[in-house]
Amino acid sequence: MKALIQQHQTMRISELSKRLQVSEMTVHRDLKPLIEEGLVSRTYGGVEWKTPVENQSRGCPLCERTGDQRLLYRLMLNDQQVETACCPHCGLIRHRQKRGQVVQVLCQDFFTNTTISAEHAWFVFDPQVEIGCCHPQVVSFASKETAERFIVGFGGSLHSHASASDQLHGNARACHSSQKGVDPS
Ligand SMILES: [Zn+2]
Ligand SMILES: [Zn+2]
Repeated sequence: MKALIQQHQTMRISELSKRLQVSEMTVHRDLKPLIEEGLVSRTYGGVEWKTPVENQSRGCPLCERTGDQRLLYRLMLNDQQVETACCPHCGLIRHRQKRGQVVQVLCQDFFTNTTISAEHAWFVFDPQVEIGCCHPQVVSFASKETAERFIVGFGGSLHSHASASDQLHGNARACHSSQKGVDPS
């Protein structure tokens, strides 16, 4: 049903029922989770597929988690797609993978939950507080001052966007070479 709606963009309930050879009641029942996920919305007598920009509930492109609102890291790509990573950890890795296609990147200030440009954000790695997402943990802040204050309370190390990206890239490389039994240093 999901594929059918996506293909047609808008469909009437009666049409879905005929195409899928099930009762309209079953159509309504099966639509409910799709509506709750935010993939489709109800229209008069039917349903409509939501555009990718509106649809931000698909989960992280790397680990499929749907992260905490305060941790989200969004990548706007040049083909109108929006990818929402669960946290800056996945976001920074994805950003590097998609380099060249990224138009804009947004993340959240961990304290105020306001949306900020990721390129100007400050990142704290490995704070000593469990934030419930990927490891090493990464949280983002709008200003260096807030990030430094957070470190005083919870520990961790401060990085700019460029150094945060390098740090994660370096980690991935270290993992890789230690798997092959090579000392990364
Ligand atoms: Zn993730
Ligand atoms: Zn995560």
